[in-house]
Amino acid sequence: MALIVQKYGGTSVKDVDRIRNVAQRIKQTVDEGHQVAVVVSARGGVTNELVTRARELAQTSDPKGQPDDREMDMLLACGEQETIALTAIALHALGIPAISRLGSQAGFKTDTAHTRARIREITGGDIPDQLAAGKVVIVAGFQGLSDDGEITTMGRGGSDLSAVALAAGLKADLCQIYTDVEGVYTADPRVVPNARKIEEISYEEMLELASMGSKVMQARAVEFAQKHDVVFEVRSSFNHNPGTIVKSEAPSMEDVVVSGVALDKNQAKIAVSDLPDKPGSAAKVFKALGDANVIVDMIVQNIGRGGAANLTFTVSKDDVHRAVEAVEKVLSEMGGGAANYVGDIAKVSIVGVGMRSHAGVAATLFSILADHEVNIQMISTSEIRISVAIDLADADKAAQAVHDGFELDQ
Ligand code: ADP
Ligand code: ASP
Ligand code: MG
Repeated sequence: MALIVQKYGGTSVKDVDRIRNVAQRIKQTVDEGHQVAVVVSARGGVTNELVTRARELAQTSDPKGQPDDREMDMLLACGEQETIALTAIALHALGIPAISRLGSQAGFKTDTAHTRARIREITGGDIPDQLAAGKVVIVAGFQGLSDDGEITTMGRGGSDLSAVALAAGLKADLCQIYTDVEGVYTADPRVVPNARKIEEISYEEMLELASMGSKVMQARAVEFAQKHDVVFEVRSSFNHNPGTIVKSEAPSMEDVVVSGVALDKNQAKIAVSDLPDKPGSAAKVFKALGDANVIVDMIVQNIGRGGAANLTFTVSKDDVHRAVEAVEKVLSEMGGGAANYVGDIAKVSIVGVGMRSHAGVAATLFSILADHEVNIQMISTSEIRISVAIDLADADKAAQAVHDGFELDQ
């Protein structure tokens, strides 16, 4: 008998039929003699719908109005509360004893950073007792309870994190992430149709792919798995094919130079012009962005008229308002400069641990893009990743070209 944590994402629990399918799969695991703790997401689209309604109301009198983060968490947590109960009811109908648990009841303790809370501890609540009593426990993903007793959520896609963290907390034998694709592919199969399923991938590569826009796994979930060495499998809830195992790096993984391509179409470019060109200016701007919780990736600085500096950087589109506001505030304190949102871009990244030991990868990437007349606006790299910012209109074409150019379908 093994203890298995299974996570079912939004598309897998989208409607009554899909929830029945999930219940059948859980029943099958129970019938094989295993203990099962399940994490579910909200029904596909529900979280987005709730976000849209909240924004509409927040912008009643100010087009830049943003809903209060604490109320957002109270609202967004509803989506998962619905699916845990429905899944438990579906299991009851199959004669399987099951009980649902909110994040708070499952002992997901977080800090107080509403909408992006970090897990402090997972006590598991009474889950071990319920499992021992022969019940399937269905836990609401994405949500926790803060130090001051408030409902929190752990960032979009956060049910992945709930699953990995629960697997660590319960010391589960297996952690399975069920989704609407068969695993982690060499690129998003919806953008690059000839993308290939990867059998095994390292935490490091998965983390880079996730951070660079491959939404098949939430980046924070991968980070947590790596830190706590939770091996997990990404697989389909629609068939029984083997998925992708995510685990620590094995020596053979270095033979592959490029493992995958990530595409992020949710990026924006912000330009800061006429920044006083003196030591400390850039530090002040980026400190303000950090304090506002804005993650900046690519940065370019050049000298403009009269010796003043111009800075251009990329942020997630969701952070544009917060970023511009934060920079404008610090600029007015410094007595000069202007911050402006200058347009949407896409980011294409190639990732592979083999890049550490192979030269010329950047040159190949740039010539593939040049051959397809894709203009590179900015570049950033890590030891195992190269990213370029390009025109949003070129995004899909560039991802396909890079995938083909590095022969990732082979
Ligand atoms: P869930 O609701 O199960 O959490 P998500 O929609 O969050 O599912 O993630 C699955 C989606 O991730 C897939 O439908 C696919 O379009 C997308 N995706 C992006 N990059 C990749 C990749 N490299 N491999 C597989 N899927 C990817
Ligand atoms: N329902 C949440 C979201 O849409 C969490 C998740 O699906 O993982 O972001
Ligand atoms: Mg997801």
